[in-house]
Order: sequence, then C-alpha cells, then structure tokens
Amino acid sequence: MESPRRCSVIIVGAGISGLTTAKVLSENGLDDVVILEAADKIGGRIRKEEFGGVMVELGAGWIAGVGGKQSNPVWELALQSNLRTCFSDYSNARYNIYDHSGKIFPSGIAADSYKKAVDSAIQKLKSEEGNHYHDASILAETPSTPKTPIELAIDFILHDFEMAEVEPISTYVDFGEREFLVADERGYEHLLYKMAENFLFTSEGKITDSRLKLNTVVREVQHWRNGVLVTTEDGSLYEANYVILSASIGVLQSDLISFTPPLPFWPCEPEKEFFIYAHERRGYYTFWQEPVGRIFFTGEHTSEKFSGYVHGGYLSGIDTTNALLEEMRRDDGRKNESQAFLLEPLLALTGSLTSTQAETVSSLHKCDIPRQLFLSNSKLGLPEAIL
Ligand SMILES: Cc1cc2nc3c(=O)[nH]c(=O)nc-3n(C[C@H](O)[C@H](O)[C@H](O)COP(=O)(O)OP(=O)(O)OC[C@H]3O[C@@H](n4cnc5c(N)ncnc54)[C@H](O)[C@@H]3O)c2cc1C
Repeated sequence: MESPRRCSVIIVGAGISGLTTAKVLSENGLDDVVILEAADKIGGRIRKEEFGGVMVELGAGWIAGVGGKQSNPVWELALQSNLRTCFSDYSNARYNIYDHSGKIFPSGIAADSYKKAVDSAIQKLKSEEGNHYHDASILAETPSTPKTPIELAIDFILHDFEMAEVEPISTYVDFGEREFLVADERGYEHLLYKMAENFLFTSEGKITDSRLKLNTVVREVQHWRNGVLVTTEDGSLYEANYVILSASIGVLQSDLISFTPPLPFWPCEPEKEFFIYAHERRGYYTFWQEPVGRIFFTGEHTSEKFSGYVHGGYLSGIDTTNALLEEMRRDDGRKNESQAFLLEPLLALTGSLTSTQAETVSSLHKCDIPRQLFLSNSKLGLPEAIL
C-alpha cells in the first residue's frame, strides 16, 4: 500500500470556509497544508454555470448585509476583487410586475394590487383573531410561551425555518440592511479565485498549486491523540497533525465520511438522519462548534450568528483557524512542559557526562522525548523511573 502523504493540516473542502482557513493558516506562516475537494473546482455552494450563453449563479447570488456601521468582510473582498454588483431595491420590486408577454403593468395598477393583497391578509387575520375571542374553548387552549428545549425547538422549526430568521437578524443588525446582487460574468466565485491567489500558486487565473487536490472525495477520517489519517475515495492516504472539516451539515449527516472512532453524537440510523436538536437556548442548532480531538469543524453551519450566508462561511473559517492556532500553541506548551519535566533528572546527570553524551542529552530538546529516552536508555544508564 502507498505510504501516506504527510502535512501539518488537512483541509477538507474548498468552499469559502475551507479556503479561508487555508488563507489564515498561510498568514500565520503555516503553508504545509493539503486541501482535499470533492468537486472539480473550488467554490462549493458558490458556483456558476453557463446557461443559454450566459453565466448564471447556481448557489449564492447576493452579498447580504451592507451599508452598516461595521463592514461585511465579504463586501470588502468583493470591492478588492472588483466584483460587479448591483443594489437590490426590494421596495421597487412591487412596482415592477410583468405579464407573460413581457409587458410591464402600469405602476399604479401594480401598487393597488399589492395594497389589496396586504389589506385582505390583515382583514383575514383580524377576523380569525375575533373568532378566537368569541370561542372560549379555543381561548382556553391557547398555547403558552415555549420554554423547554423541545418546545423551543418545535417553535423554532415552525416559525423560523426556511426564509425567516430569529429577529433581530444579525446580518442586517451588524452589517447593514442593504443587499447587492452579484452581476458579474466571472461569477461570485471570482472573489474566491482572487482570495486564493494570496496563498496558492496560480497561473493565468487558474490554480496550479499541487496542495489543492480537486476531484478528491474524503471517505474516512481516523483520529487519535497525536494525529489524523484521512482516506479518500481512490484509496489515497493523507496524514497530518490536524484536520479541518468544512463539509456541510448535509454531508455530515450522510454516511459519506466515516469517523474512527465515531463522533460522540450523531444519529445515523435509517430514518434518523434528519433530526431536530433540542437545546435550552432557542434557535441554537449549530452542533459542531467545538473540535472533536484533532478534528476542527468549520463552515457556515458552525457560525452562530451568520449560518446560511457566505459571510457566515468566511467568518467561521477565521474563527476555526484561530481556535486551531491556539490549540497548536497549547500543544507546543504541553510538549515543552513535559520535555522540561522529563529532562530535569537528565540535566542533573549532565555534569558527570562526557561531552558527546552531554550533546546527546541537549539535543533531546528538539526530539521526540519518550522515544529518544527509550533508545538512549542503555547508553546513558538512565534510572528506570523516568521511562
Ligand atoms: C441555492 C443557494 C443560494 C444561496 N444564496 C446565498 C446568497 O444569496 N447570499 C449568501 O450570503 N449566501 C447564500 N447561500 C449560502 C452560501 O452559499 C453558503 O452559506 C456558503 O457558500 C457555504 O460555504 P461553506 O464553505 O460553509 O460550505 P460549502 O460551500 O458547501 O463548502 C464545502 C465544500 O466541501 C466539499 N466537500 C464536502 N464533502 C466532501 C468530502 N467528503 N470530501 C471532499 N470535499 C468535500 C464540497 O464539495 C464543498 O466544496 C446560498 C446557498 C445556496 C445553496
């Protein structure tokens, strides 16, 4: 069997979150990474295709949350990459109603029809409300405010799922209420290619870097205390200290990627793949915010405030990488501490060692201590107790 390719960090997925993790790692001097991407190009849910001679976006189309006090980082990236966008004025949409022949309705007729529809919906609600108050049995059954996790979870699914979000919507509160449609022949993905130029080798707008492996589907992640081993569909093996996994909730809920040992909590029996998570905080449904050992989860679904948005993916990529860098620093600290602890009795001996033996001992600082101690035991005559 082919021996595993080795690197510091394996990144699974080259959508906005996966690419952002590679960017932040590179900014912190860590370029020894491999990016494994199942699709034939980068972008994930940011993807364009040619249709009838024009480019259409199959995934994300808007940059939502612009014009506020705080700048949306994806809007910043769009400006830096000269992405062509246009303002979406939703209040105008009601006046721009076309018939099947392509003829626009006069704005007065459109406005009247809209007003009539809203008025009739309000009337309907009012009359239903009135009926409720006359019907004592319905009044008695009026549900109380949801309190328990299960009540909160069901309330969230019934009222906020799909288009609605829990008010206030962080995207608009934090970044502003305006939205811009990406209207660029190069696609929304152009922003990702421009970003990738900073940390991957490119030539004539194409990524040529061998650290990016396209058409590479990850099927297994083995993880243990000291590292991870990733197996891809074609049987290739990749070994690293850490893995960052940016696959979506849908992929995580399928059995596409198996984990050894299994993840602590993930229902995957038949008919259980689609489930509701009940938490004491309403709307708190982002499961994978904490790493599991050496597996770090990222992606829009791990963003507490901006899940479902491109900027959610981008910001989660930054947060996850910062958490990983922090863990690496802690890991280094732990290693140094255990080296110092193990070296204490050794250093006490160095006074009586020959110069060659003393060099051997000091070089232990740079090496894998337990293994070195084991290999050097007979030469240095170390006491059994420190092995
Ligand atoms: C139709 C649609 C419209 C949208 N519209 C908007 C919008 O207008 N504005 C907005 O802000 N957001 C929008 N979004 C949401 C936005 O596109 C996503 O939130 C964001 O792109 C997610 O980025 P990500 O990196 O978290 O995940 P992804 O983009 O899903 O990246 C994950 C990557 O992992 C790869 N992968 C998965 N499994 C494996 C595996 N086993 N091995 C290797 N690789 C794997 C995938 O191929 C993918 O490239 C829309 C989404 C969709 C689907």
